[in-house]
Formats: sequence, structure tokens, C-alpha cells
Amino acid sequence: MKKSYDAIFENNRKWVESQVAEDPEFFKNLSLTQTPDFLYIGCSDSRVSAEEMMGMKPGELFVHRNIANVVNTLDMSATAVIQYAVEHLQVKHIIVCGHYGCGGIKAAMTPEDLGLLNPWLRTIRDVYRLHQAELDTIEDEQKRYDRLVELNVQEQCINVIKMACVQEEYLIDEYPIVHGWVFDMKTGKIIDLDIDFEKILKDIQKIYNLTDSNWVMGKKNNKNML
Ligand SMILES: [Zn+2]
Repeated sequence: MKKSYDAIFENNRKWVESQVAEDPEFFKNLSLTQTPDFLYIGCSDSRVSAEEMMGMKPGELFVHRNIANVVNTLDMSATAVIQYAVEHLQVKHIIVCGHYGCGGIKAAMTPEDLGLLNPWLRTIRDVYRLHQAELDTIEDEQKRYDRLVELNVQEQCINVIKMACVQEEYLIDEYPIVHGWVFDMKTGKIIDLDIDFEKILKDIQKIYNLTDSNWVMGKKNNKNML
């Protein structure tokens, strides 16, 4: 066990060496600032490595991960990450990425008391309830499970779009755009669920429009006048 722990520092030493060999200024530049275009919200699952599967380097991806890539309005961690990414980093794209074979989704499909996990899984069970009519028609359990993974991504995208900072920033600058993905571990491929961001935004704003504050409209009008 100690051996595998110590190996991390050896790996780190080699990584530093290879980065510096490629670009002697790499760490100096890395320490100056971050200007990522992407916020990635994914599952904590150890098999889904965001930067690696997307071919991203340090500094290119702002990341939030939790069990089953959930965006809950009462989760201060997720909402603070989104707010910071949108308002301060001005990310252009927000990606919610689920994955087939997700243990969190599987647990949510199992109707039993799972202790501290209950409130977390409730958000996913709510997704099931919202889409019960469709899910209950799928007889094959594996297919139903895969579909819930996709629907959970879709609903978490909607939860991102419900946030005032996302709606306001989009109104002013026409970004960020929200995307829903599923990572297929069996093939290594990323599947874009082609979430229709504009349509969802328009649909949900009948209920969740949070962009009518004076400062947002003022900022929008000022921009149009420039
Ligand atoms: Zn997962």
C-alpha cells in the first residue's frame, strides 16, 4: 500500500521533468492565471478522467465532480463553482457529463434506505419520477439504467440553466452554452446528447426567468449601445 502511495511522488517528479523538457516556462506560465473556456461537471467515478478523455492540458478545464454529476440548488459547492466559472472565469461552455455504468444512478434505481446517501440520491430518484412514463416502458433493465443516466444528465443541465448567473450571462454575452454528454466506458467515446440549450432556456424561463433585474437589463442595454 505504501509502495503505491510513494509511487505518486515518483510519478509527479517524472511529470515535472517531462513538462519542463517540453516547455521550460510551463510552470511559470501555469502559475500566472487561468483562463479556461470550459466548466466540466462530472461524476466522481475514478474511471472517468475528464482532462484525459478530452485531451485537455492544465489550465484548460475548470472542474466540479460529485456522485452522479448532480447539480442541486441547495449544494453550495456545485453552485459556487458554477457562479465563479460563469461570472469570473467567463467560461464559454458548461458541460454536464454522466457515464454509463454509474454506481450513483444504479443506487438511485434501488428502492432502499441507503443512509446518508438518501438525500443525494433523492435528486436522481426525482429524475426517475419526472420521466417515469418513459422509463417504465423500457423492459430491459440495462437499457432502462442507461436511459436514466442520459435523462439525469439532461435534468442536471436544466438545473444549471435555472441558475440566475447562467441566464444573466447568456443574455449579456450569448454564452455560456450548456451541453450534456455521456461517457461510454466500454468504448472510451464521449456521446453528445445534443441538448437544445436555446429551447430549454426559452421553455424554462416561463417559470424560472431570473433575468429581469435592473442591473442585468442595464448592462445589456449598455452593451447594445456600444
Ligand atoms: Zn458515476
